[in-house]
Amino acid sequence: MFMSFDKIESIGEEQRGLSLKGKDMETRFQVFAELCEKLEATSKRLVMVDLTADFLNQLDADEVEPTVSMMLGRAFPKWDQRVLEISWATLSDVIKSLTNVKWTRFREAFAKTGDIGAATKILFESSKMRKQATLFEKPLTILEVRRALEAIAEISGYGSRERKERLLETLFSQASALEVKFLVKIVIGEMRTGFYEGLMELAVSKAFNIPLDVVQTAAMLSGDVVEVAKMAKLHGKDGVLKLKLQVFRPFRPMMAQSSESVEEVLGEHGRETAFEYKLDGARIQIHKYDEEVRIFSRRLTDVTQSLPEIVELTKTRVQARQAVLEGEVVAVGEDRSPMLFQHLMRRFRRVHKIEEMQRRIPIELYLFDIIYLDEKSLIALPYVERRKKLSEVCGDIPLTEQLITRSPKEAKRFLEEAIEAGHEGLMAKKLDSAYTPGIRGKRWFKIKKTLEPLDLVIVGAEWGYGRRHSWLSNYYLAARDAETGIFLVVGKTFKGLTDREFIQMTKRLKALTIKKQPHGVTVAPKVVVEVVYNEIQKSPKYECEMALRFARIKRIREDKSPEEADTIQRVREIYERQYGKKARY
Ligand code: AMP
Repeated sequence: MFMSFDKIESIGEEQRGLSLKGKDMETRFQVFAELCEKLEATSKRLVMVDLTADFLNQLDADEVEPTVSMMLGRAFPKWDQRVLEISWATLSDVIKSLTNVKWTRFREAFAKTGDIGAATKILFESSKMRKQATLFEKPLTILEVRRALEAIAEISGYGSRERKERLLETLFSQASALEVKFLVKIVIGEMRTGFYEGLMELAVSKAFNIPLDVVQTAAMLSGDVVEVAKMAKLHGKDGVLKLKLQVFRPFRPMMAQSSESVEEVLGEHGRETAFEYKLDGARIQIHKYDEEVRIFSRRLTDVTQSLPEIVELTKTRVQARQAVLEGEVVAVGEDRSPMLFQHLMRRFRRVHKIEEMQRRIPIELYLFDIIYLDEKSLIALPYVERRKKLSEVCGDIPLTEQLITRSPKEAKRFLEEAIEAGHEGLMAKKLDSAYTPGIRGKRWFKIKKTLEPLDLVIVGAEWGYGRRHSWLSNYYLAARDAETGIFLVVGKTFKGLTDREFIQMTKRLKALTIKKQPHGVTVAPKVVVEVVYNEIQKSPKYECEMALRFARIKRIREDKSPEEADTIQRVREIYERQYGKKARY
């Protein structure tokens, strides 16, 4: 890859970012990396939006989609089935072979920055071998990066790891240290610039002068702001307005607000509402077009492969050529009572040995909505009419249990029934409400029986990542064993405290440190915190064999001593009560 000297002179590392376009008029990747670096350096949302809007404006139409995807940490658009499948082992081998720097240097750089991309940049900057190499390389462009990523995603089968490694090596060897930083982040799928989809919607609106609500609606319907950005660049507002729901393009699901009481939701919904059992499973979007069926998780990942029985059920039972349906998949035990959520999640992650999993974790589907039927979007139809259509096309697939009522008394009985049957609670859906993708409003409420908060003691803490790297921000939470007096860990959380509280807590825990650990500290059990959580799972992770799911600190209990905190016996009692109705293996 040697070039003539005049070229070498014009593309030294320090000059790479000087002009937006490369010689062939494609936008340089260096400029993209510089933008990301600027986003990372500021926490001002408006500045981020302005910088991005400016950048989008200057791109060519075919550069918009790759740029927007990559800015959001994706190699490809969300609905795209391609994946890079590059392991940390492969990535680290490439970094090692290109820099030839001792790996302890990487660890040091990581400890300092808390970020894999930033640590890699430090290594590339300090590597003598690298400086030589970059001098002879041609500047990368955004489209070249995309093409390289496509080539990597295409590799499969025997020897794919080595071949991927080689392509990645070629890509990195053409990149500046700053470019490598962001290439690494794209490969691992974490940009950490603080720039998320909501800000991208603002940037697209600004760049192409399209009202924000038009951009937002289009993003929800098409499932990805990337699509909207591309359309905005190509056809402006009219193009964006044309973006519609399509079969096989997952969209963001409608969500529900929490409510404590049936009275509240009846009031909000104008006295009468539809209650449905809130099943404790996983939400899926089923897309059907003739004989083809694809299933997407709530986070819009394609999970078709892991759920063959749902594919079959849809193909054989659903009476429509084209349909987009929503429902809840629940795992069931032998007596058909609902099984724990964690078992179900194991089904979703599975792509191999599916048959064995089908046997071990049988699942059932309950449908609750229909969003598209034979060429027509149904999102504007009222809930009751969608539900009617759903019952017409669903064959013998069960729908979620439903009760339309004005009576708080009947509603409460229905809630008790749901809990008795081992479900989470109720959903309440406004009878005349349209389906609003991606929106958490008052048209849908969820009413759950909440588990009582626990007062737990912090017995250890780990250093955080990124912005939190100098704080002890990940806490081990323990309950006291009333019989032995020993504190047993039941969960871990980094959620719930404000920045200021993290700083104070770090100081406090440093003073209470009994032992330093590789990633944190063990501390004397002194600090009591009130913790909320979704459920208590059986888990081999901790000695007590239980673990809190989605734990979050509600407040610091300065008023309580560790002796007054909750006991492991109480945690076990809640655990038992919670699953009284559920199969527990
Ligand atoms: P959230 O996602 O937090 O708004 O809570 C609603 C979740 O409850 C949905 O994402 C579904 O996974 C789940 N769910 C269970 N039963 C129903 C139902 N009958 N209707 C809608 N969502 C349901």
